[in-house]
Amino acid sequence: MKKQTIALIGATGSVGKQSIDLIEHFTHNFDLTLLSCHSNWKDLSILASPWPKAQLACTAFDAGCPPDHFLIGTDAIIQAIQQRPPDILLIASSGLTAFSILRDCYSYCSRIAIANKETLILAGCSGLLPQIQQHCILMPIDSEHASIHRLLQGCSADDLRKIYLTASGGPFYSSPNPDFDWDSITPEQALRHPTWNMGPKISLDSATMANKGIELLEAHFLFSLTPDKLDILIHPHSLVHAVAEWVDGTSSAHIAPADMRLCIQYALSWPKLFSTDYTEALDWKKLSILPFVPFEAKGLPIIQSAYECISNPELAKWLPLAYLAADEIVLDRFIHQRIAFKDIGVWMLDTLRDVKKNYYLDTKSINPSTILGIYKVMCDWIKKGY
Ligand code: NDP
Ligand code: MG
Repeated sequence: MKKQTIALIGATGSVGKQSIDLIEHFTHNFDLTLLSCHSNWKDLSILASPWPKAQLACTAFDAGCPPDHFLIGTDAIIQAIQQRPPDILLIASSGLTAFSILRDCYSYCSRIAIANKETLILAGCSGLLPQIQQHCILMPIDSEHASIHRLLQGCSADDLRKIYLTASGGPFYSSPNPDFDWDSITPEQALRHPTWNMGPKISLDSATMANKGIELLEAHFLFSLTPDKLDILIHPHSLVHAVAEWVDGTSSAHIAPADMRLCIQYALSWPKLFSTDYTEALDWKKLSILPFVPFEAKGLPIIQSAYECISNPELAKWLPLAYLAADEIVLDRFIHQRIAFKDIGVWMLDTLRDVKKNYYLDTKSINPSTILGIYKVMCDWIKKGY
């Protein structure tokens, strides 16, 4: 069988390294032809050594002095992909830099596998997502969304009553304790995730539960799910990744070890599954319970804000941008000790409502070419106001 070629954006991060581990294992199936980092080119050179012919790239212009053969900047990466299109574009970078790579390169590739939530939400608001879904296979890597994709295979949307996204609860919500001292949470504590090993932004988002709000928006756009069809369960063991409840009252759950390589593998191999013991399967005979915490996550202001963003189709075209912007700003303030952890959720809800009421945006002006600029202006507006 011909190997599938892959361009990997964000190779030096947590998802990027796990993708490399997987591609190295399935060497007969895949070949890396391009790998990028933001600025960490020394690590990238080492990671890329099994693929000496692959092009290497930095998205940052101020990445020190990478060797001459490195491509520099997003435009150079876009050009390289357009000139030598890979079968699969695998987006594992953080931030929004990959949005223009996605926008300008999707039509050259037959499959996009994407971990980056923020980029997916921008694609949703700008109308790019349906264009991509029409043109190529779009596979989410985020574990809940990979699980939803799997649960919905061969099912009719009419038969679906609800999708539950599971949340581990991060370091603080997994076992709600009335005596917990919310006042003294430090960024170091918030960065320590109990079940997943992830990059800093998503670890902090998991601690505040903004990650679940972002995932709610992601699920809305990826699977056209309205807020009444989306709910959240707290499941600290991170073994059940999503549950589909059907109209006949039965439910299906997708259950797997908390290992991102399984999600990456599914995104690369679907509709096939690789028969392998590369990742460990669950030992069902040792598993006594699959506990859920009876906690109404919808009551948290940070989750409430996410629901408000998609409460009607008009708002869903632009308010999710404010959710991402406010989250980025508030995390920066928390890290610099300008806001206490316990105040983050209410700050998000107040900010969202203020944007909804007072920010003027002509939604007709939003499209894949303008959305990055619109997002930046909105970030500045929120920063100035608070
Ligand atoms: P990391 O912080 O571990 O890695 C980020 C990667 O993106 C690195 O390769 C980094 O390069 C690159 N990068 C950093 N800043 C920029 C920038 N401004 N522009 C372009 N590239 C940049 O992140 P994760 O791997 O944890 O997450 C990546 C994405 O996947 C995020 O959007 C996250 O929400 C999503 N995701 C992650 C999961 C996980 O388990 N980690 C699970 C589900 C989704 P360099 O090393 O040079 O800085
Ligand atoms: Mg997730």
